[in-house]
Amino acid sequence: MPLNEKYCSPNCEQLALANQKKVQKSRKMLYVLFAVFILVWLFFMFRGQLGL
Ligand SMILES: [Zn+2]
Repeated sequence: MPLNEKYCSPNCEQLALANQKKVQKSRKMLYVLFAVFILVWLFFMFRGQLGL
């Protein structure tokens, strides 16, 4: 396996990868929250148009 020059040690690389995964997970959560927010917003818009 070629040595990745981005990291000073395998342990350091593992930590960086774990951190990256955490960041991606929280980013995904953010997208989900945003999608939910949009859906709720659309729901209230639609409700308002129906006059309910
Ligand atoms: Zn390092």
